[in-house]
Amino acid sequence: MRSSKSELLKVYEALLESYGKQNWWPVDEEYHRKAGSDPREEIVIGAILTQNTSWKNVEKALENLKRENLLSFEGVLKTPLEKLQELVRPSGYYRQKARRLKEVAKALSPIDKVRTIPREELLKVKGIGKETADAVLLYAGNRLFFVIDAYTKRIVSRVWGMEGSYEELRKWFEANLPKDLEVYKEFHALLDEHAKRFCKKTPVCEGCPVRNICIFAQKIKYNYQGI
Ligand code: SF4
Repeated sequence: MRSSKSELLKVYEALLESYGKQNWWPVDEEYHRKAGSDPREEIVIGAILTQNTSWKNVEKALENLKRENLLSFEGVLKTPLEKLQELVRPSGYYRQKARRLKEVAKALSPIDKVRTIPREELLKVKGIGKETADAVLLYAGNRLFFVIDAYTKRIVSRVWGMEGSYEELRKWFEANLPKDLEVYKEFHALLDEHAKRFCKKTPVCEGCPVRNICIFAQKIKYNYQGI
């Protein structure tokens, strides 16, 4: 495996320099100030709604919940299932997601539990897979779990020529990154941004900010300039 701590950080720094801070996870602080709710609950709700859909669709569902003043665990728990399904419909799989929202709101109430709940316990909640669990623990719980998604897998496979299971890749990032919450949060967001801008299904290697580190790019013999 061709990788090292410094190389991983080099990629992080190059992406940060190119795209700037992503400030994930996006939450509507003003809404929560007015409603007296906890923004961490929006992160958890968003993490469920974003399963198998784009963020644009999630935003529509979040707007529906906000309009009804229901963007909180309390709101999710007190809303009849059928109404909740209608409100989250724009995010797709709405029947399943409405049920999952109720499960997770129950499991993580009060929200401070997100700071202490063992990962294994969170994974037992229906509808919470590894990616959702780690997003919740990192962004809502401020805990050092690196989130792996399909974009991350694609980039790791191209840049380092490395394939692995979810757990193998998570542990690899965690072993090679500084124990710094901001780096964890930003890096995951930057990798997603990178997958959308350059490292698409069909990669656009020309102009890519990490092309001189990338094994895939070296294979296709681009003319690089250093980063
Ligand atoms: S050089 Fe190409 S394959 Fe490598 S990270 Fe950039 S876009 Fe992806």
